Amino acid sequence: MIYQCPTCQTKYSGNSVCHRCQTDLSQLIELIQMAKDHIQESENALLENNIENMFFHAKRAYHIIQTHETAKHLAYAAFLKKDFTFATSLFTQQQLDVTE
Ligand SMILES: [Zn+2]
Repeated sequence: MIYQCPTCQTKYSGNSVCHRCQTDLSQLIELIQMAKDHIQESENALLENNIENMFFHAKRAYHIIQTHETAKHLAYAAFLKKDFTFATSLFTQQQLDVTE
């Protein structure tokens, strides 16, 4: 996942303080970690063939932080849940590429 400092838009370097504008990014880092945890739970649920749980965690991740990756997980979960309208709208909105 690629992130930016919400203040100056510079690429996130992995530190808890932005190297460019000194904004405290610790809360952003916590949110990113929460989203990653939900993505992991979503992938675990897929391995267990629990599509409802996969969708639940993918949706949580997407609502915590909207990135290309969280959108893609949610779109795939929606597709597997046979919610084709929602899946298609995510693919269109986020300009997702299924070949990635
Ligand atoms: Zn910054």
